[in-house]
Amino acid sequence: MLETICDILVDAYKRNWITSRDGNVSIRHHDRDHFYITPSGVRKQTLQPDQFKKIKINCGIVSGVFPTQFVHNWEEMPYTDISSALRPSGEIPLHFGLQKEMGQHKDDVRVVVHVHPTYCVAAMHAGIDLSTVVDSFPELSRYTKVAPNVGDVPPISQELADQCFEKLRLDKYGNIAYDIVGIKGHGVVAIDTSPWRAYEHIERLEHICKIVLASKKYE
Ligand SMILES: [Zn+2]
Repeated sequence: MLETICDILVDAYKRNWITSRDGNVSIRHHDRDHFYITPSGVRKQTLQPDQFKKIKINCGIVSGVFPTQFVHNWEEMPYTDISSALRPSGEIPLHFGLQKEMGQHKDDVRVVVHVHPTYCVAAMHAGIDLSTVVDSFPELSRYTKVAPNVGDVPPISQELADQCFEKLRLDKYGNIAYDIVGIKGHGVVAIDTSPWRAYEHIERLEHICKIVLASKKYE
């Protein structure tokens, strides 16, 4: 699936959803204690599977606390020679938070895709909350659950990650109430069980945002 992630990032680049070095993706298989994430600052048109970073998820118990509380952290694992010279994506707080517990994907694969799709970002810039566009376009809500927007937050920050978790209604088991969330002035984050499935949430929302903006019927 790392090759498929490379494919979707090339596709996202061709659609102008990212510039060369933007965008990041992570993937975790339910039976593994690690996930893969795209490296920082690498051209997405030429990204290769052996450039990904392998990240171990450590889980410990907080001592002296009842009920039992778990604490997670991450560390890089050896993967390939080429990967060892690279750093993980700056958005790793976002990906780690969504991958450390897999919630409704606990028997499957979880893929987290972050890109900057033009019309989704334009719609948020125009003051539209992406969660409201489903009201007029039921074919969107049938397949994609859209969270309320995250406001202006700095990129590659814990604040961005925390705001995304809140709007996606991420719980301590890793359950997520929505498929996609928009970050104002920035981009979107989509989650599903394969790279293309996550990508389709973005594609669907982008298509509707383009229609809404073309109609000019919004406040
Ligand atoms: Zn971004």
